[in-house]
Amino acid sequence: MRMPAAVLRATSTERPYGASRPVEIEEVELGDPREGEVRVRIAAASLCHSDLSVVNGDRVRPLPMVLGHEAVGVVEETGSGVRDVEAGDHVALVFVPSCGRCARCGEGRPALCAAAAEANGSGGLLHGPSLLRGSGGELIHHQLGVSAFARYAVVAQESVVKIPQDVPFSVASMFGCAVLTGAGAVINTAGVRPGQSVAVHGLGGVGLSAVLGARAAGAWPIVAVDPSPAKRELALRLGASHVFAPEDASAVADVTGGGAEFAVEAVGSPQVMAGCLQSVARGGTVVSVGLPAPGRTLEVPALAFAGEGKSLIGSYMGDAVPRRDIPRYLGLWRAGQMPVDQMHTGTVPLSGLNTAMEDLASGAAIRQIIDTSADV
Ligand SMILES: [Zn+2]
Ligand SMILES: [Zn+2]
Repeated sequence: MRMPAAVLRATSTERPYGASRPVEIEEVELGDPREGEVRVRIAAASLCHSDLSVVNGDRVRPLPMVLGHEAVGVVEETGSGVRDVEAGDHVALVFVPSCGRCARCGEGRPALCAAAAEANGSGGLLHGPSLLRGSGGELIHHQLGVSAFARYAVVAQESVVKIPQDVPFSVASMFGCAVLTGAGAVINTAGVRPGQSVAVHGLGGVGLSAVLGARAAGAWPIVAVDPSPAKRELALRLGASHVFAPEDASAVADVTGGGAEFAVEAVGSPQVMAGCLQSVARGGTVVSVGLPAPGRTLEVPALAFAGEGKSLIGSYMGDAVPRRDIPRYLGLWRAGQMPVDQMHTGTVPLSGLNTAMEDLASGAAIRQIIDTSADV
């Protein structure tokens, strides 16, 4: 089928994105679902910082590519061999289509699936090459097995998680990436227990979701750090107990009794990572969630580990098991304990994507829903 989609043909760092327009809305061809695949009508897609990282080249991906990986939709058609979902089901899309058969999947860490990493790195799908073509018939890649800034996506059945039909699409869209990654970093990777102290550095969608995860885990205090006063204010509403600007590092130590037991680094900055390792309590753990640009290196005091019992650990997609975690987090949202709705800062049509990217990059927006059904 032919449909409008947001295509990135070359990386760009020229700002503002609203004027430089690195992404064009083009008519593209989307093939039919093959064995093990489903076609999903995209109901809401939200714009995530890792979309920007593909645009500016921090995340190196094969181009051209249809962007968008944090989304929800309705299953319209299933290929042969699809058993878990059927037409009419509401689904959240997840950006790691775990195979269920590799060593990492076998040990219960599907976020690190080898087959998914290979498919995502090549810009194809888990069960075959890309189904997207440009107007000249040229191959266009999928982003993370999804490509949701389009009216439809064909994805592996392993890329969808069925969700209840009464959850608003604008809410559900944030669960497949931001919430899974941020809350999972605290709950799954760090394993925070009630009463332990957590400091979250960087309050984008993932960092704010880490605040939500810390609240759900019963952490105290929950300290949120960001240069933006508006984001600090939002963190307070989401459950942070204290908020500070990055220059107030000593205040973080004061409210945590000398240093947090866990620091979540959601900026993707080696300097912030090093600062977190220095500031956590003896025996404390730094969880690296933000994605630094490739080639960046980290220099830290080597004695911090054996000498002070500190740890630095990485968390990809919040070490999530999506079919376990998304229903749990939706349950917490339903109970009022994970108010992700407050991260929603606007809805824009597909034609407004470049401006929306600028608003995300500048910090003016947190999570914007891209309405791919609107006319372009
Ligand atoms: Zn994302
Ligand atoms: Zn696997």
